[in-house]
Parts: sequence; structure tokens; C-alpha cells
Amino acid sequence: MSAEGWPRWRGEQVAPGVHWLPLADSAWRPRFGAHVTIIGTVQEAVVIDTGDDLDAPSAFIAGYLAGMGNPRLRAILLTHHHRDHSGGAARLRALTGAPILCHPLEVPLLASEGGAERPGLTVDGTLEDGALLRVGGVTIQAIHTPGHSPGHLCFFLPESGLMLTGDLVLGDATTSVSPPHGEMAALLTSLERLLQFPMARILPGHGPPLADPHAAVAGVLAHRREREAQVLAALQAGFDRPAAIVTAVYQGLAPDLVELAGRQVQSILRKLTREGRVVAIGEGEEERWQLA
Ligand SMILES: [Zn+2]
Repeated sequence: MSAEGWPRWRGEQVAPGVHWLPLADSAWRPRFGAHVTIIGTVQEAVVIDTGDDLDAPSAFIAGYLAGMGNPRLRAILLTHHHRDHSGGAARLRALTGAPILCHPLEVPLLASEGGAERPGLTVDGTLEDGALLRVGGVTIQAIHTPGHSPGHLCFFLPESGLMLTGDLVLGDATTSVSPPHGEMAALLTSLERLLQFPMARILPGHGPPLADPHAAVAGVLAHRREREAQVLAALQAGFDRPAAIVTAVYQGLAPDLVELAGRQVQSILRKLTREGRVVAIGEGEEERWQLA
């Protein structure tokens, strides 16, 4: 899928009662926010993620709902607190009166990261792992999938086999795992859990849909394990400062991605520390690492 002409400001029904509103073709260009999914019929609907807090995605969602016949909006579900997913939630809540629901662990993060600038961003209720909603004949199962964010939710639609993965699995990139909210060990467990669902297709938060979900998730798991092995190999080879480990692991990295790569390496080192496989010697300027 090319970046030309994105977003297309055109949604489509991808399964009975499931409407996909792609906002960006790539995780690296989330200009208007992450993709939006609307589930329902002319009578009632829910919106999953809302794009960023900008006029264009909000108008796109409102226009799409109008095209569906203005169903009563029962809820606004959020995969997690990041602004590209939750930014438009306050506007949509103000427009429709629909309650905002997310996992309990995201509530304080929404308040601290967005609450001050987005005063209408009030969470009205929470969704625990396994929570079920039925809207217009479509079942929506919330799956707690921490790793990218502590209260990240995926949503599984058993009738169609669609899995909405938010930022856990992306269509054309590997998700970021940045401390303190990101946690690599949790991410791996969440990915392994996804494999147990009878998925027919993944609709990610960014990038194109994934037609072979199990292979895609297995591929992400393999990539993560490879990165971990590369960090261990870098330590083995004597690279002990974080910046040196980043250079050893991510060869030929574009300068603007160095900071992000540094956070990924920190996530891997935290996981390995907890497993007793590496130890930190020194802090701050003197931060160094070695194999345990
Ligand atoms: Zn995110």
C-alpha cells in the first residue's frame, strides 16, 4: 500500500456490521491518528479508537456515522491512552454523549498525559480482560494485552475472526516498547496469547490489514527474540554502554530513530535484568551493562 493519497477519508464494511476507517497507511505517518473501527447497525454502534484530536478525523467519524443513519453510539472503546488513538474521544463523547471505556490501567495514564489539554476526556467505565459487548449482532471481546502500554486492549470479533490489535501488532512496522509504560516481557506474553485465538484477519491500529494473522504474530515474536539475542551478543562482544549496544544491534540506523532504538534496547535490558541474565553496573553517565 503506498502513502500516496492517505488518508482516503473513506471507510468500508469489512465484515457484517464492522466498518474500518483507515487514517494512515503507515505507523510512521500517524498524522491524523490511528485507524478507527465502527461496529454496529443503523440502530446502535460503538467506535473503537478515535484518531487524534483534530478536526479532520473527528469530522470523518461523524460523517461516517451519519452515513450509517446516525446510530445511537453506545460506547467509545479505547485500545490504549496514546493520543493518536484517544485524541478524538473527548469530542466524540461531547457530540454523542457516548461513554468512554478503556482498561482500568489506562485511566490514570489518560488523565496524566492528556487530561490537562483535553478537559472532556473523562473515562466513564472500564473494560477488564474478557469483557464482552454485543452490538448490532457483533460480539466484541476485550483482551488485555499489555506490553506497548500497561492497559492495552485488543478486541476480538468471533463471528468474523477479525482481531483489532491497536498498537500490539502493526501492519507494516514493529511496535515500540518504551519504558516506563512499555514492557517487553509483557509484550511477548500478549503476542503468544493472541496466537490462541481463531483469527482470520488482523486489523492493526496502523498500516494495512494482515491476511495471515498467525504467521504475522509469529513473525513479530521471532523478530523480538532475535533482537534480544542481538543484545546478548553485543554484551558478549564487549559493548557495554547503552549507545554502543544500540549501534551494534541496529546497524545503519537513521539518526532520527536512534532515540527510539535506545528505548527498545532499554526495554530488552529491563526484561533480561528481571530474568537474572544481565546486570547494570553504574548509573546515569556511567551506565554500563554486562552478562550476569
Ligand atoms: Zn500507542
